[in-house]
Amino acid sequence: MDGIDVLVSEVGPRDGLQSIAPVMPTAAKLDWIAALVAAGVREIEVGSFVPARLLPQLADTGEVVRAVRHRHPGLHVAVLVPNAKGAEAAIAAGADKITLPLSASETHSLRNLRRTHEEVLEEVQRIAGLLGACPEGTRPAFEGALSTAFGCTLEGEVPEAKVVALAERLVALGCDEVGLSDTTGYANPAQVKRLVRAVQAAIGPERLSGLHLHNTRGLGLANVVAGLEVGITTFDASQGGLGGCPFAPGASGNIVTEDLVFMLEAMGLRTGIDPERLMAARAVLKAALPGEPLYGFTPDAGLPLGFRRAA
Ligand code: ZN
Repeated sequence: MDGIDVLVSEVGPRDGLQSIAPVMPTAAKLDWIAALVAAGVREIEVGSFVPARLLPQLADTGEVVRAVRHRHPGLHVAVLVPNAKGAEAAIAAGADKITLPLSASETHSLRNLRRTHEEVLEEVQRIAGLLGACPEGTRPAFEGALSTAFGCTLEGEVPEAKVVALAERLVALGCDEVGLSDTTGYANPAQVKRLVRAVQAAIGPERLSGLHLHNTRGLGLANVVAGLEVGITTFDASQGGLGGCPFAPGASGNIVTEDLVFMLEAMGLRTGIDPERLMAARAVLKAALPGEPLYGFTPDAGLPLGFRRAA
């Protein structure tokens, strides 16, 4: 990655907004994204190509993708797709990266997507076919994201062998890379290292570079450090900790971007993101979502006296 050591992938406009009822107007989303880009954020998951009736908050995803591609040519524009139909829309809009979630827990998959593992894997194959037909230079990257990889609220423990086997299937069917998601906030640092190593051994370390961690039980940043120690270089986070289904009052669901950037930069790892300008983006978000709780310790405490970014 040019000029940075760790890629912080902002998922607020998708994962964050998804769980919020008041629909954020497209113009406000674009202002927020512009402020994030101005702070140095290089990758943003801007929406999800799901039917508008299921998720009115993200009904403008196509419009958002087209607008940000035009306004921020250097930005890596990521989107979530639940199936091949969504992937088709994502390709048409010009997304740089499409992520298809596959729940490692089949019970969770049936409950949330109403699909068995095999049915989701068929969609993966269809999407790989669509991508194969893209003209040279226009093909988006394709990630299979294994949600509930560290445990499931319905099934409890998810066997590591199952996660490894699904990662192998995703790659065999055409995913460029596999991500692991701690959807439920069950992960601990020892488990993060163990599971990342097991999946890397099966599919190659270059095919597992990203983690989506939650802070539900306060272990989000500890799990990031564990990920760093086993070679992970991309971490999802959400500005103000928006979204990610927080279960406990006072705890964010998603990792807070502001805290993650502070930690990484303080550790000497370059993110390309300016913490001060990230606060300016937070102010834009706060103004657009009045009354919505925003989380984060660093925004409240401020940066330490004499703080310097990684050089
Ligand atoms: Zn999340």
